[in-house]
Amino acid sequence: MAAYIGRFAPSPTGPLHMGSLVAAMASWLDAQAHSGRWLVRIEDVDSERCSACAADFILQQLARLGLCPNELPLRQSQRGAVYQQALDALISKGLAYPCACSRREIAAVHASAGRFATPHQPLPYPGTCRYGAPDCSANAWRFFSEKYVVNRPSTFNGRSESASLFIAKSTVHWQDRRLGPQAQNVMAGVGDFILRRADGRWAYQLAVVVDDAAQGTTHVVRGADLADNTPRQLLLQAALGIPMPQYLHTPLVLGSDGAKLSKQHGAPALDLSDPLVPLQAAATVLGLAPVLGKVSVSEALTHWVAMWRCLYNHDSD
Ligand code: GLU
Repeated sequence: MAAYIGRFAPSPTGPLHMGSLVAAMASWLDAQAHSGRWLVRIEDVDSERCSACAADFILQQLARLGLCPNELPLRQSQRGAVYQQALDALISKGLAYPCACSRREIAAVHASAGRFATPHQPLPYPGTCRYGAPDCSANAWRFFSEKYVVNRPSTFNGRSESASLFIAKSTVHWQDRRLGPQAQNVMAGVGDFILRRADGRWAYQLAVVVDDAAQGTTHVVRGADLADNTPRQLLLQAALGIPMPQYLHTPLVLGSDGAKLSKQHGAPALDLSDPLVPLQAAATVLGLAPVLGKVSVSEALTHWVAMWRCLYNHDSD
């Protein structure tokens, strides 16, 4: 297979916290364990929530933790033209359509059928604009999941089994290197999903697959909160004819309230006065034994690379 390329893709909405360190460290360890390259991508498509300062601060935090990328970071805010090309390719295949629905209108369609979204159970797009938007104010674009996954013959992408995508009866089956076999009914869960928002912002799903392909990513290692995004990304990769990386989703760090640690919920920035302290804590979340005695950051990381290799490399080469 292609030489290993891994990546860490933070959204610069604030400094790294323990949850993002776990993802950064895991993707770095996996790259080292494969003697591969490790890249960083700044996911700053959402210009309202992201800042250049936060991006620079994250890069400084990574350097202090001994996690240095092999190339200059890619910044999504500079890649609109490439995302547009991908959208154009999907439109020309009949796999993207314009949508004029507001969130309120989508909720109203569901409510009239007695369905109500919850934070853990969002409702799929009801398909209102699928066969033509009602007016010409349609500025958002959606992926035509229905056309791509429903009633199609079962397919295998023909690559090694662990990296394969298998679609049957609207359900995408895939293999996660830590979580094992996964399945999601894309039509019941998300339906036709957003590629570009009405205000022109690019959706995470499109940007992430275009950039993973552009960076030559062979292995994605990231937090388990993103695992249920993977089927949408596999579908886009298949529709665009770009390679599918292997995926590994790491355990999440939960706050004292049991919710996932996140910047939105006020997770504290890492205290890097002694970088070994947060690294030891992140290693524990990843199931790696702490390094005992007085060691340098680089000695500790070398030790964890060896442990990581034993835990995760056997099924991914
Ligand atoms: N930018 C995303 C985040 O910070 C990660 C995206 C990914 O790794 O695919 O949660």
